[in-house]
Amino acid sequence: MADSEDHNPATRLAEIHSRIAHAAALARRRPEDVALIAVSKNCAADAIVPLIAAGQRRFGENRVQEAQDKWPALRERHADIELHLVGQLQSNKAADAVALFDAIHSLDRPSLTAALARACERAGRQPLLFAQVNIGAEPQKGGCAIAALPTLIEEARGAGLTVSGLMCVPPTALEPAPYFALLGELADRNGLPVRSMGMSGDYETAVMLGATHVRIGTALFGARA
Ligand SMILES: *Cc1c(COP(=O)(O)O)cnc(C)c1O
Repeated sequence: MADSEDHNPATRLAEIHSRIAHAAALARRRPEDVALIAVSKNCAADAIVPLIAAGQRRFGENRVQEAQDKWPALRERHADIELHLVGQLQSNKAADAVALFDAIHSLDRPSLTAALARACERAGRQPLLFAQVNIGAEPQKGGCAIAALPTLIEEARGAGLTVSGLMCVPPTALEPAPYFALLGELADRNGLPVRSMGMSGDYETAVMLGATHVRIGTALFGARA
């Protein structure tokens, strides 16, 4: 990025909003039906504050502990912050996650369903819940196998949880569109209206294929250390 203005978080934010609007228009979708999650993992509060000042309110983190360290202080000044957990969740952190996050994108196994159901019952609240799908069947990646998804959703409902949507991270270095299309199909098949898909490198494609939540880090904050 040659233009020094490109390093201004407000400028980057406006640019991404405009790209989302363009992609939505191409797909005959309304831009307001796409929620931009600013993924601030590894970012210090100093880097986050300018984005809040520019009007961004929805943020994503991938570790419970890091979010606990950063967000309570920021939320004291901005009560309308919406916090999304986009990383893997250990069952023993379920209660902490339910207390802190407004949305959890990583329900991927029965043991976590049980832990989240207990935590939500105790807390008397349930964050917006996404089942994460291992959409490329990659052994090293989190997410539930496609074949196991109906059971996971059914068990979650049986435990009193409402699963609103699906989330995926397609294989890196492959064309993401077929994976986004597949996630949309799986969501349709399971009657789920919400789709969390698309990151810095592919969010326009995701928006054209029905993303309701895009998770953007690098394009907003620059490369992570
Ligand atoms: C880090 C991360 C993102 C953001 O990735 P960028 O490529 O930096 O936009 C999105 N989703 C998940 C699950 C992540 O871990």
